[in-house]
Amino acid sequence: MKSTTKYYENNLAFAKSLDTKDPLRQYREQFHLPVQADGTAHVYLCGNSLGLQPKSTRGAIEQEFQDWEKYGVEGHVHAKNPWMPYHEFLNEAMATVVGAKPIEVVVMNTLSVNLHLMMVSFYQPTATRNKILIEYDAFPSDKYAVASQIEFHGYDPKDCLIELKAREGEDCLRMEDIEKVIAEQGQEIALVMLGNTNYYTGQFFDMKQITAWGHAQGCMVGFDCAHGAGNVNLDLHDSGADFAVWCSYKYLNSGPGSLGGCFVHERHAHDKKRPRFAGWWGHNKETRFGMRDGFDPIPGAEAWQLSNPPILSMAAIWASLKIFVEAGMPQLRKKAIQLTGYLEFLVDEIKDERIKIITPREASQRGSQLSIQVKDADKKLFERITKAGVIADWREPDVIRVAPVALYNSYEDVYRFAEILKQELKND
Ligand SMILES: *Cc1c(COP(=O)(O)O)cnc(C)c1O
Repeated sequence: MKSTTKYYENNLAFAKSLDTKDPLRQYREQFHLPVQADGTAHVYLCGNSLGLQPKSTRGAIEQEFQDWEKYGVEGHVHAKNPWMPYHEFLNEAMATVVGAKPIEVVVMNTLSVNLHLMMVSFYQPTATRNKILIEYDAFPSDKYAVASQIEFHGYDPKDCLIELKAREGEDCLRMEDIEKVIAEQGQEIALVMLGNTNYYTGQFFDMKQITAWGHAQGCMVGFDCAHGAGNVNLDLHDSGADFAVWCSYKYLNSGPGSLGGCFVHERHAHDKKRPRFAGWWGHNKETRFGMRDGFDPIPGAEAWQLSNPPILSMAAIWASLKIFVEAGMPQLRKKAIQLTGYLEFLVDEIKDERIKIITPREASQRGSQLSIQVKDADKKLFERITKAGVIADWREPDVIRVAPVALYNSYEDVYRFAEILKQELKND
């Protein structure tokens, strides 16, 4: 779907009129917006890095403090939300947000840890099939993770890591190029592991299509959905991917360093033979406290849990997920498309030859992020924008990433950002 640029107007009154008509506008009130020294709110466009705090989070954590105070160890059973099955309360809501079945989803660990645990199970290199396919500009942690897994199995990343690079002069990957690499080298690829939404360009990939190409060649297929969860409709079950991992502190607003999510497709739910690193929390709940039996995995993603989880972090995640379930991912996505479209329109209106949006122009190929390249700019431009009240993100050498988030950003935020960018470009 192309954004309907004719529909937008470049003035504050129009931005405000869109806010008035926005059916999700009341959600902004449910978040703490960071304030500047003079007491006015920042234009916060950094939800792709750290999502804002829902006002309900503090109370949710407070509840666990109270129950710990009141019950001690018995809170595992007697807390208002008993700690023993606590992660189960979240799994259903998380499954809704990422488009999966509850048996396919678990909240545990953090993203890079989960990525390793998934590769232990789904990267099983052999003499003839030992490669991993990843994007050249994947998030550094993902690249370290895949390279170290290759080395762990006794192979050399120089031989076994295939990196997908955009064509000369282009910023984003072309689907046909991904198809070609998988078609030509698929028989040697053990694992296709891509970011579903690239953190740098904001490009959102068709996971179902990539999974189909990978599976046709006998590869396992996994996705890093750090920039997808809570941002786009992931439809993880339908995608057919073998696994996916994500964090909850970006679009999912669960607080710095909060736990991550993990998806394992239903087709692997009852496979007890698949290698994995095991811990007691993944063991059959009926006999977990017997502590004598051999490992008997819980059917589904829960089997990959190692430890009993940190309840305080889970409380924050649950508080946030309730907002997502109430607002609905389809509604949030609908607003995100409009809001990002408006941002795109306004950035184009600046009509400065130095700036270029490197994120795809098609709404179906991006989420709530635009990556704006400013040729020959240095970080001073970004620092001035920050000083003028914007919180966004600078990526070397010359890219400003801005993420208007449907839950708490307004059309006015987007308008104010574009005005500030225009002004600071003039001052350059
Ligand atoms: C944010 C992000 C990470 C961060 O990993 P953590 O383990 O949560 O620190 C990893 N990969 C991608 C693609 C990310 O966007």
